[in-house]
Amino acid sequence: MTETSVPRGDSSRARREAARLTAQDVRGVALTWVDNSGITRVKAVPAGRLGQAAEQGVGMSPVFDVFLLDDSVTTSTHIGGPVGDLRLFPDLDRLTVLAAQPGWAWAPADRYDQQGLPHPACQRQFTRRMTGRAAEAGLELLMGFETEWVVLRDSQPADPDPAYATLGPAYGMSRLIDLSEYLAELLAAFSAQDVEVLQLHPEYAPGQFEVSVAPSDPIGAADLSVLVRETIRGVSLRNGLTPVFAPVVTADGVGNGGHLHLSLWERGRNLCQGGDAAAGMTRQSSAFLAGVLRELPALLAVGAPSVASYLRLQPGHWAGAFQCWGVENREAALRFVPGPPNEPHSANAELKCFDPAANPYLVTGAVIAAGLAGIRDRLELPAPVSGDPALGGGQPRLPQSLQESVKHFQDSAVLREAMGDPLFEAIAAVRRAEVELFEGAGPDAVVAAVRDRY
Ligand code: GLU
Ligand code: MG
Repeated sequence: MTETSVPRGDSSRARREAARLTAQDVRGVALTWVDNSGITRVKAVPAGRLGQAAEQGVGMSPVFDVFLLDDSVTTSTHIGGPVGDLRLFPDLDRLTVLAAQPGWAWAPADRYDQQGLPHPACQRQFTRRMTGRAAEAGLELLMGFETEWVVLRDSQPADPDPAYATLGPAYGMSRLIDLSEYLAELLAAFSAQDVEVLQLHPEYAPGQFEVSVAPSDPIGAADLSVLVRETIRGVSLRNGLTPVFAPVVTADGVGNGGHLHLSLWERGRNLCQGGDAAAGMTRQSSAFLAGVLRELPALLAVGAPSVASYLRLQPGHWAGAFQCWGVENREAALRFVPGPPNEPHSANAELKCFDPAANPYLVTGAVIAAGLAGIRDRLELPAPVSGDPALGGGQPRLPQSLQESVKHFQDSAVLREAMGDPLFEAIAAVRRAEVELFEGAGPDAVVAAVRDRY
């Protein structure tokens, strides 16, 4: 879809879909968008009204653009206050019957104003615009988010010593056995929803798991990240379990990452391989990744958007706390993955410094903008870092607080231009307000405030 296309008006298709849903006993359709604080918000319509929703949209206030993670509201230069209305339009191409929520279907929504023009702060259309920009340069991107989460049993958000649903060791088979039925139900739900799972495994932190899904176009990757998380939430709750998607579950442990994998393509060829630039990638790919690397301190305000994100982003936690890149280097913020020799098409880069508090639409759009600026400026990647950057070598640490990354964000001409002022200023305002919200709060108080929010 291009920048100008409006995903609405096909009411005859929507009415057909509504009839199909009703025949499958689906009662409601959840229309979601993700706000600037990283929370997925929703309006639902009865399945029978999907036609009207696709034709006229569903009303919502623009004030959600300045909501904070605790549901308090700030204001920004262009957006804020109780006045005004927008319309949510479901993307019918992504309409999915939810396996873990009998009676429900889901579709991600785009936001338009009352005149039918794109809402300038619509995050989903931002990533569509950036995908369109890449296409103008003859480039396509494949992207995919990894989802990490911690499974708790009967825990209160403030409990500093949460009850993990399994006590098995990191990557331990015993964790898989402990939660065998739950995990099998999860795989069944993904499969029923046509979500192609690549891997599911216990992770490092107590009670932690990870699922990765097949890459897709940038909007699709962001949509999938929402669907995957809400599916995990649904299956967890049906099993009496509480999933935690916050960047950290305890103040000093290893946290949840929201790593983004990406590869750059031109006319069906993966530019991350088969070239004469660093690590065998093409010059274009090197320039794109150099652009992302240059912009990382500002991108952190998008991809590590919570005060809690900086409790996670620590050296030695495989979270990518240094502004450098390396081949298969899990301590570099940008990890290049050449892939096995017999699968050159799978070469890709992984941004490890991002976490699940991020709005995935903002992440995909902002990363494309930063990469395209790298191509425009003919950047080249510096030498890769081969050891642990924490052990010397002078690699810069990424920002160590939200306050610090917001400063970089506010100075980023690349992100301001790409997002446009209304979206850019709303994000900056939300970040500043969340910094203020947690002023003086210690790590435990931050964890308690965010643990059950995402
Ligand atoms: N849980 C780690 C993080 O916070 C990532 C572990 C891994 O490399 O997958 O990003
Ligand atoms: Mg992982």
